[in-house]
Amino acid sequence: MEPLDAHAIAGLQTQQSLARYTAARLGGPADYLYIAKEPEYQDTLDLLRLAWGRGLNTTVIGGGANVLVSDAGIRGLTIINRAARIESEDAGDKALVTVSSGTSLIRLSRYCQEKGLSGMEWAIAVPGTVGGAVVNNAGAHDSDIASSLTGALVYEAERGECWHGTEDFDYAYRHSRLKQRADRRYFVKWAQFQLRRDDPDLIQARMDHNNDYRRRTQPPGASLGSIFKNPPGDYAGRLIEAAGLKGLSVGSAQVSAVHANFFVNLGDEATARDYMELICQVRERVRAAFNLRLELEIQALGDWA
Ligand SMILES: Cc1cc2nc3c(=O)[nH]c(=O)nc-3n(C[C@H](O)[C@H](O)[C@H](O)COP(=O)(O)OP(=O)(O)OC[C@H]3O[C@@H](n4cnc5c(N)ncnc54)[C@H](O)[C@@H]3O)c2cc1C
Repeated sequence: MEPLDAHAIAGLQTQQSLARYTAARLGGPADYLYIAKEPEYQDTLDLLRLAWGRGLNTTVIGGGANVLVSDAGIRGLTIINRAARIESEDAGDKALVTVSSGTSLIRLSRYCQEKGLSGMEWAIAVPGTVGGAVVNNAGAHDSDIASSLTGALVYEAERGECWHGTEDFDYAYRHSRLKQRADRRYFVKWAQFQLRRDDPDLIQARMDHNNDYRRRTQPPGASLGSIFKNPPGDYAGRLIEAAGLKGLSVGSAQVSAVHANFFVNLGDEATARDYMELICQVRERVRAAFNLRLELEIQALGDWA
């Protein structure tokens, strides 16, 4: 493993805290941090190639809305993906929309409404980027990214740039083949969606409905959304609440009183270790109460030893 020369690479930073790049506002430093702003990703891919060639660990963070970064931070190179671009092309009563992976889901959802394209209304209040959603198969309101995705352009350490049709990702509920990959030696560049034409007012009405639902049922503040996947036929939030765990806290990490599957970071003193300890306690107490092991929806990144 050979280090990178941060002075020789424009924009490459060292030892930057990742807390501000995650929705839970938690996480220690990245050894190397690079913020991708350019939607062609030429510099980003050059840097990834360099890091892979030197045997460095690489991690991509989009909105950081589904990752818990350890207090010790992440070794190697972390890319923060902020590059946003959306292009669309007519195809009869449908359109093909091509989106760079750093584009926020909310921005994409609004763009589609303005263009009179239906299929992304579910995403209007889901934080994070298109790249994170492609990896996680993000979804809400009985839909998900897999429903309208035609495929994505992925840059891989071993194979270079590859177009993958949606079927290649082996999508299931909050699951994809990409999310399972422990090596993390890939970068989702672009994703393409096929969306159907509809009345912008009707699209807006569905988005308003989804927004209202979220405001009523989810807590504000720093969190990672749902911590656990819903087990078949049930809801993780219902089980956590039924186990009497609403309001349970470890340090400044607390099970939300509004939605028991959301754990909120209450303040500046919170640590990722507290947050993880809360996750472990909740999982153990739900197992003891219902003989059921909840599966994590979020991913833990970095050193946890
Ligand atoms: C308040 C709140 C509400 C939420 N509600 C929902 C919901 O309703 N439905 C839902 O599905 N999720 C929900 N989430 C979780 C989150 O919004 C989604 O999982 C989202 O898709 C994460 O996107 P991200 O860009 O933040 O990904 P990150 O958390 O940054 O990363 C997630 C994974 O994707 C990888 N990754 C990200 N971008 C790339 C890329 N370009 N190339 C390669 N790998 C990449 C990361 O390495 C990581 O493995 C919620 C989160 C919050 C905080």
